[in-house]
Amino acid sequence: MTAIEPITESDDDIRAAVGEAEVPPLLPALAYLTGDLSLLRDELRPDPLLSGLPQGGLTDDQLAAARALAVDAIIRFRDNGSRPAPLPSDTDLLRIMEYAVGGAAMADYLPLLEEELAFRGEDRRAPTFHKNDIAPDVDFTVVVIGAGMSGLLAGHRLRQAGVPFVILEKDTDVGGTWYENTYPGCRVDNPNHNYSYSFAQRHDWPLHFSTQDVLLDYFRSCADVFELRDHIRFQTEVLSATWSQQNLRWTVRTRTADGHEETIEANAVISAVGQLNRPSYPNIPGRDSFEGATFHSARWDRDVDLRGARVAVIGTGASAVQFIPEIAAAVGELLVFQRTPPWLGPTPDYHEEVSPGLKWLYSHVPSYSEWNRFWIFWKMGDGVLPGVRVDPDWEPQASSVSAINDFMRMMLTDYLSTEFADRPDLISKVVPQYPPAAKRLLRDNGVWARALKRDTTQLITEPIREITSKGVVTVDGEEHRVDVIIYGTGFEASKFLTPMRVTGRDGLDLHEEWNGDARAYLGITIPGFPNLFCLYGPNTNIVINGSIIYFSECGVRYVLGCIDLLLRGEHRALDVRKDVHDEFNERVDAENRMMAWGASDVNSWYKNDRGRVAQNWPFTLLEYWQRTRAPDPDDYELVAGN
Ligand code: NAP
Repeated sequence: MTAIEPITESDDDIRAAVGEAEVPPLLPALAYLTGDLSLLRDELRPDPLLSGLPQGGLTDDQLAAARALAVDAIIRFRDNGSRPAPLPSDTDLLRIMEYAVGGAAMADYLPLLEEELAFRGEDRRAPTFHKNDIAPDVDFTVVVIGAGMSGLLAGHRLRQAGVPFVILEKDTDVGGTWYENTYPGCRVDNPNHNYSYSFAQRHDWPLHFSTQDVLLDYFRSCADVFELRDHIRFQTEVLSATWSQQNLRWTVRTRTADGHEETIEANAVISAVGQLNRPSYPNIPGRDSFEGATFHSARWDRDVDLRGARVAVIGTGASAVQFIPEIAAAVGELLVFQRTPPWLGPTPDYHEEVSPGLKWLYSHVPSYSEWNRFWIFWKMGDGVLPGVRVDPDWEPQASSVSAINDFMRMMLTDYLSTEFADRPDLISKVVPQYPPAAKRLLRDNGVWARALKRDTTQLITEPIREITSKGVVTVDGEEHRVDVIIYGTGFEASKFLTPMRVTGRDGLDLHEEWNGDARAYLGITIPGFPNLFCLYGPNTNIVINGSIIYFSECGVRYVLGCIDLLLRGEHRALDVRKDVHDEFNERVDAENRMMAWGASDVNSWYKNDRGRVAQNWPFTLLEYWQRTRAPDPDDYELVAGN
């Protein structure tokens, strides 16, 4: 969404900006931009094993040499009128890409990269059809449930394809999770160049990891720029959706904030309700008897004055690790009840603003921002996948699943040991005993240890027995009296599509069918529920910190592909074949058992009550992209229209 400007700055200004660069993606970007592949010096290539470290683990000498080359190349580019060279051949692009990721074989990724780079503004994931061209007379409408990140995306693509739709949103504004979670310290833990739509890139993100307000503004402005607001009905909650095999339509029942109920008919329903929006309150005896103030992190109550109060926080997951450091100094006393400690990935720039020089590079060196996006995509996605997969020959250990995973464990343990070096009493409490990536790896820039080491903070690992009117009682019988209890206890993530009632073919009830164990084909379609499409559905979550927007972009393209299929021919409904769905899920389950999060028996929201990993995609990001590029009609029973 932000344009690239021509370079008019002096050599010194360029040199100063390059001094602030994220170096690993800079030489690939300049090689791509100028066509000068001699910039790709072997001795300056990042080491794939070190890519998670700041500057990809490049040494000071390597950084200085790479910067000098980059400065010369940018000056030449400026002197040449800021005109990019012609696009490189596939062979050259592959060479640049393999260099960028430290030498991995990337031929399979080439078409994905071309899309991801969206260089010079193309949007290669846009629908390839327009309804007016292929089925002008066909009556086909879509209901999208939710105006969060996925719902806005679905609306944008439907609008581009000329397919009539309405988005139903229970809240008063767009943004979904970024609208609802307003707790102090709430921010994205995936760098924004990656956590943003591929076709709506900003080169001017103020922070590397945006805070909630910045992200909410981004999604609000996307709703405006994509001209979606007129398509959204706010404060409209979906109660049920019922399929008619006779009419090949869904009837969607809604209720507005003032209690008015209505029905809407549509040929297809896209559920974009997210996984992380129904707060989970722990099943601790006596929870309702507490007489002080209490709230969940996702329903932060600003009317509760925490200043000087004795505050209990239950949970040390992603949300709590963000808000505890923010409230620790203000409260009178902080009692942190931890059941399982999180692994923390050191991230020095976690709270930092993007420096002026780096911002300048993003907005003046074409493709640098996109190559940076690719660099993040790789080092936080498929590049780390081998490090979290079980090595069957690895001596079975509770604390790691392979040699690389053990290396990660040692590095992360070192970090925690250093952070808590002056508080040896806390070290055994804060160092996890389960493999890295068995639970979500959280980011830290030192604030976690600082919050826990305060004189006014207690880290309590004794399990909770009950909650009384006055506070929290641990199993050792001690009552911890508090004024406020904050639940950082996560979400009912496994209860996909609840509390809506969804009735498919032959009166099938979705929740009875799933029986607490949600599954879908590619996370999108479910047998017996024709023309129902899920975004961020079962098994489309990621543990290592890739971007869920990527999954939604892949999913939405697939859904649009299904609609294209329905509009082009005489068929008006598609229902995924049960054998295709079951076979796919068996493969997913088998692979999830081979991943740290499936092999370890540590608690996590990735597993449902039956212990099955119902959330996570265990394969590469590439594979999800490949499998969702277009639907295979053979995977579906197609039903002709009336
Ligand atoms: P979570 O990761 O599920 O953490 C819940 C915490 O509550 C865990 O520490 C859990 O302990 C604890 N807990 C639950 N029930 C308990 C009980 N009965 N007694 C004691 N402790 C209990 O939830 P979350 O922190 O809200 O995060 C959920 C997900 O949301 C994240 O994994 C992430 O995907 C997303 N998220 C992302 C961001 C971001 O990008 N910035 C921020 C926040 C959330 P156990 O570990 O022992 O189960």
